[in-house]
Amino acid sequence: MTPRGWAVITLVGLAVALVVAAAVLVPWHRPPAPRADQLAALRDLPVEQVARGRAFRAALRPGGWAALAVGLLVALGLGLTPLGGRLVELAGRPFGGHWVAQAVLGGLAVLLVADLLTLPFSAWRHAILTRHGLATNGWGGWTADLLKSYAVSAVIGVLALLGFYAVTRLAPRWWWAFGAAGAAALVVLLSFVLPVLVEPVFNRFTPMEQGPLRTELMTMAARDGVPVRDVLVADASRRTRAVNAYVSGLGPTRRVVVYDTLLREATPAEVTSVVAHELGHAKDRDVWTGTLTGALGTALAVVALYLLGSAGPLLRLAGVDSIAEPRAFPLLVALVTVAGLVAAPAQALVSRRIEARADAHALALTGDPATFEAMQRRLSGANLADPDPPRWEYLYSASHPSTVERIAAARAHAREAGR
Ligand SMILES: [Zn+2]
Repeated sequence: MTPRGWAVITLVGLAVALVVAAAVLVPWHRPPAPRADQLAALRDLPVEQVARGRAFRAALRPGGWAALAVGLLVALGLGLTPLGGRLVELAGRPFGGHWVAQAVLGGLAVLLVADLLTLPFSAWRHAILTRHGLATNGWGGWTADLLKSYAVSAVIGVLALLGFYAVTRLAPRWWWAFGAAGAAALVVLLSFVLPVLVEPVFNRFTPMEQGPLRTELMTMAARDGVPVRDVLVADASRRTRAVNAYVSGLGPTRRVVVYDTLLREATPAEVTSVVAHELGHAKDRDVWTGTLTGALGTALAVVALYLLGSAGPLLRLAGVDSIAEPRAFPLLVALVTVAGLVAAPAQALVSRRIEARADAHALALTGDPATFEAMQRRLSGANLADPDPPRWEYLYSASHPSTVERIAAARAHAREAGR
């Protein structure tokens, strides 16, 4: 059988594995609370808070969608015309067109052009965040964050580009197999190292100070059967007034992180409710679920790119002979961009179901739906969320159930518990 034949079989195998993993690991049986209960929850929220959240989200919306559109147009413009290939050549020219220069400098140049063209929208977003009092870091802090994220992306980008194009040269017929395995391994590696190598670039993390709240949280974690070495506090207040918490990392790098803003704004009982939600993620191994599905999806994407990339018309549009050469990198970016936009609603749906399970875990663990509801009101208010966002936007990009869904779920839990 030809490499192409094996690639088709691998693609089908990966697709089946991804579907099975999603079917088994994602809690599909947690649909949102009935709409009538959501509307009742919405009516109970302060009118002024809802209006403020909606005004803020409406202000962000045009820039957000415009950035998406411009990003897509740039990717297609560079990838489906010879323009991107020429940019790669240009970047490699001072080095005699050596493949390493083309792969690394050319690749980074393509990514940088796309970033720079959407930069005005990022700046606009920051201006709106500042005007609405959510951002606290000023333009200096914003610029520093931007440069840091460029630096981090450049390091990861250099490794990925160098690795990928080395493989395409060493194994011209089988690169897709090594590439798929390598890309999947990179996803797993990043899950392990991001919390210890990348997150500290942007924030300082300190163990939560000793006291009744920390004792309460550690006791709750022990009761939950989730071993937690420590709860870390991130100095999020350096750039935002938003409140949040999250779990990241795997195995030895797993941590529960709360924003310092949350500790400042919320009551200890509300913080406990938030951490109970995060313990749910830890207990249900949601970081593993995300990593595994991410690794399978990435491997699938590499094989799909190989198969799609041997299509003559695409190569002719990009003015390249093979998808495996550095000059075809812009074509890869274009295909990945389109795939990302298409996959976004599915990813958001999976994320919402997983978040709903973590909410249910928090309610069961704390047995305190009233505080859970108060915490949702506070999260929504502090983060200027639209408690009941437009349906299409929710379906396309909401990673969490809406505030009204979460409150309605808490009330349903209270009813069940009271029965
Ligand atoms: Zn969560």
